[in-house]
Parts: sequence; structure tokens; C-alpha cells
Amino acid sequence: MLLTPLESRKLLTHALQNQYAILAVNADSHAAITDCLEAAYQMNAPIIIETSLWQLKGHSFGATDSILGLRRYLADIQAIANSERYKAVPVIYHTDHIKGPETMNILGNAIKGINLSGEGLTYASTISLDASELSEEENVAHICQLIEIAKAAGVTVTLEMESAVDDGITPEDESRRLLGAVEEKYPGEIYLYAPGVGTQHGFTSDDGYSGFSPVTVEKNIKLIREITGRDFGIALHGSTGLSSDKLAAAAKAGVTKVNWSSESLFVRSSAAREFYLSHEAQFERKHKDWKNTVMDNGVNAYVSKRYVPVVMDKIRLLGGEGQGGRFW
Ligand SMILES: [Zn+2]
Repeated sequence: MLLTPLESRKLLTHALQNQYAILAVNADSHAAITDCLEAAYQMNAPIIIETSLWQLKGHSFGATDSILGLRRYLADIQAIANSERYKAVPVIYHTDHIKGPETMNILGNAIKGINLSGEGLTYASTISLDASELSEEENVAHICQLIEIAKAAGVTVTLEMESAVDDGITPEDESRRLLGAVEEKYPGEIYLYAPGVGTQHGFTSDDGYSGFSPVTVEKNIKLIREITGRDFGIALHGSTGLSSDKLAAAAKAGVTKVNWSSESLFVRSSAAREFYLSHEAQFERKHKDWKNTVMDNGVNAYVSKRYVPVVMDKIRLLGGEGQGGRFW
């Protein structure tokens, strides 16, 4: 079931208290969303589906129009997450790397809700923005503005605030300035913090080496409590380069959301490549299996069979198995 912002707070708190992390997949197609829900269903685990700007504007959703992309993405998630098969799976829809001039319009719509079916509004579950090109002051101002949008609309927003996630380890005083400034003005709206913890986006540390240590996470959890007077977990960006051991340790140490994008894209695209290379004969128009091969279902069913087990492994590694049932 697609969670509301308030339910999402409960789920993120449940993850912190029970020392597991929720896998957050950047799903860039309808088929990828289907596969992620299926993997979560089979693991009886919660899952986060997230979108960055490039997915909202991508061909499967907005086809250059980010607001259309948001509508189509929310409609897709709502339909599948609330379906009979998946309604027991806790699903968070999160806005991930959104930046540039459209940011506030996109996020404003995601917070205020979109009327998809005439049966009321559908909201993004949790919200973050890409602060990589913002100054600290701009970052704080943007987060406060998002809270103000929610308050003006009479709705709840559940936020992830980030620091420079690719720039090494965020110094303590920077976290104090960022979280402190927002908490002072609007206490209690942030439920995820994404500081730099030594990871990097992409395949940059693919050899399993990174500057990441679970101790950095533990320090941040203590710091969060000190700054805000409450407990919430860390969102880990750039998980692709981390070893399985480090990922599992990160979840135990207080990471509650693990963003997964590059490796996910790699697994899907490798399977698709394999499909096309191994089915060359069936692409001839007179082949008896031509239609089954060339239809969207052909490649996507093939990819699904190879991708779903990988997602399940990731969920298991992060301690998510069975947590869907325990959450409700
Ligand atoms: Zn990221």
C-alpha cells in the first residue's frame, strides 16, 4: 500500500528501532516498478520507490514534462501498490535528486497532492531535493519553503535533508548548521538525514573500497539526537560501491534508507542486452516466436526473471525480510 507522509514517518522509525534499512530503488520504467514491488512482496518487506528529475522527464513517464511525469509516476505507484497482490507491502514513494528551476514546482505538486482519479489527492510519501549545487543557506531555505508549502496546504510533509553527499564526510558543524536551522524554525518535520559518509554516486568505488565506515553512521545518529532531541536515521546515497558486509553493517548502525540506482540500472540493462543478443533469430519476421519476442513483454519478462532475485538479495542483506508484516 502506498504510504502517506505520516505513515512513512512510522515506517522509517520502525526501521531505525529494528535496525534494518529500506531499499530505495530509482525505478526508471513501469516494468522496473513492477519488479521492485514483486521483490518486496516475496520478501514480505517494505520498499521505497524513488524518482529523480531524469526519470520524471524520461520517456516512460513525462517525456520531457516533469509534472506530467510526476502524475504518471504517482498514478502507476498508487495503482500497483494498492492492488490486491501488493496491498500488504508498505510502499514509500520518494522524490530523490530534483534540482534546477523546476524544483519547487515539482516538489510543491508532490507535497500538495495530485488528483489522479477524482477520488481525492495522492501525495508523495517522502520528499528530498538535490542540494549539491546549493549553499548551506539555500539548502535550509529550500527545506523551510517545502514545509511552508505543506503548512499552507494543510498537509503533512516528511522530509529527507541532505548535505554534500559526494564530498567525503560531512563535518559535524555543518550538520549542526543545516539540521539546527530547520529544526529551530520547524521542529519535527525531517525524518531522514543524508550527510556525506564517504560513499560516492555511480561506479566510482566499484572495487568495494570506499571511505565509508559504519562508525560514521553511528556518530551521525548521536549527532542527530543531540541537535534535534529526537531519533531518525540516515539515508545512504551511492550504495553501489559498498561491499555486502559494509551495507549490512550500515543498516544495523542506523541507516534506514539505502538508495540504489547505478547497480540496478546495470543489472536491468545487462539482462536486456543478453535477451537481444541471445534471441537474434526470433527477431526475423517469419520466425514462429517473432511476436512473443518483440513485444514489450518479451524483453521485460526476461529482465524481470533476472532482476527480481537481485532486488530480493539486497532487501535480505539490509535486514528487510519479514519487516513488512511486522510493521502493520
Ligand atoms: Zn543520491
